[in-house]
Amino acid sequence: MAAQIPSVTSLVSEAQTAFTNTYGGVAAVAVSAPGRVNIIGEHTDYNDGFVFPMALPLVTVIVGNKTESGMCRVQTLTNMADRPLQVQFEAPTPSSSQLTPSSPTWANYVKGVVAYFPGLVSGFDAVVTTSVPLGGGLSSSASLEVATYTFLEALTAATKPTSLKEKALVCQKAEHKFANVPCGIMDQFISTMGKKGNALLIDCRSLESTLVPLSDPAIALVITNSNVRHSLSGTEYPTRRRQCYQAATTLGKDSLRDATLSDLEKYKGSLSEEVYMRARHAISEIQRTQEAVDVLRKKDYVKFGKLMTDSHNSLRVDYEVSCPELDQLVDIANTCPGVYGARMTGGGFGGCTVTLVSCECVSDLIAHTNATYKGQATFYVCQPEEGAQVLSL
Ligand code: ADP
Repeated sequence: MAAQIPSVTSLVSEAQTAFTNTYGGVAAVAVSAPGRVNIIGEHTDYNDGFVFPMALPLVTVIVGNKTESGMCRVQTLTNMADRPLQVQFEAPTPSSSQLTPSSPTWANYVKGVVAYFPGLVSGFDAVVTTSVPLGGGLSSSASLEVATYTFLEALTAATKPTSLKEKALVCQKAEHKFANVPCGIMDQFISTMGKKGNALLIDCRSLESTLVPLSDPAIALVITNSNVRHSLSGTEYPTRRRQCYQAATTLGKDSLRDATLSDLEKYKGSLSEEVYMRARHAISEIQRTQEAVDVLRKKDYVKFGKLMTDSHNSLRVDYEVSCPELDQLVDIANTCPGVYGARMTGGGFGGCTVTLVSCECVSDLIAHTNATYKGQATFYVCQPEEGAQVLSL
């Protein structure tokens, strides 16, 4: 069975109850920000390429109140975060010392956004809850950052509104500086700018983004969490980035965004086999993502699905970031009737797959996967949802 996704209303009421128990009174402000899945365009962001995510019905909710105490008090309701689950820190003022990252880790995502928020924060009490699985590759961290920013916007209504792009960039900076994760822009962009019934094509070079309709009631995207995460040595991602830069330099390009597969063939002899393969993935994936958007605009799901599966095979063979569990989930999906295509999504070595499937075949896909997959999978059946918003209480 697909996982039951809690409604936003139920998350808000859970957070409200905790708010009353922890701080007393009732929270007057509530916001939500979604997690995301990347439909196609993997390991393209640092090659100046395209990514194509959509916002999920899985969201992070924050409820709270403004205070004049000069303190920011935050509690998270998830058991998956490191302890303590309740923190407090001083609100930054023009004259006080700057905030710095510290323990617990989870609070740094909130603190980083408070630190870089372009407005004066006099203090607040807040409770965070989420339906985005933590560390599952569906971007719980960006949804926490974007929810925090949206919460601060709602508290400081007088502050000059920033553009959605600036908002996303502040959240990205918080993740870079306070969580020490050198992430791209995709997660914060889609959590901020997502629109119901649309996926978002993001050009990681120009930072331009375009909504692309994806609202056919006959199709669904099924996210399958493999529930595995292989331990990494820590060199896998930096090595691949370096290999892409090396290939671009050899090809005389600023980035692989500017290269074609025929450019790559010309320089094949000057590249190691591994660097050649890495570049072949990056170049072909950037092309595939653009082609996928073109065919999606024509509602050609057969071609779109094939491009998703091609993407998976490129990540598996050329980029070598898949794993047996993700390969098995994709293989199973592709044998099911009504499936157009499937691929791993996220950085790789575990996490989730995403499958494009006819709505009427979703339950068969899930049943067949449960019967065949060697691990224990979790399923989320999704349509593109709205980005961050202030909720009415
Ligand atoms: P993901 O793909 O889910 O973003 P990450 O490992 O990048 O995975 O980020 C997960 C981390 O973000 C958690 O370990 C925790 O520190 C923080 N986090 C995300 N959501 C919450 C939340 N609701 N409450 C507390 N911490 C959270």
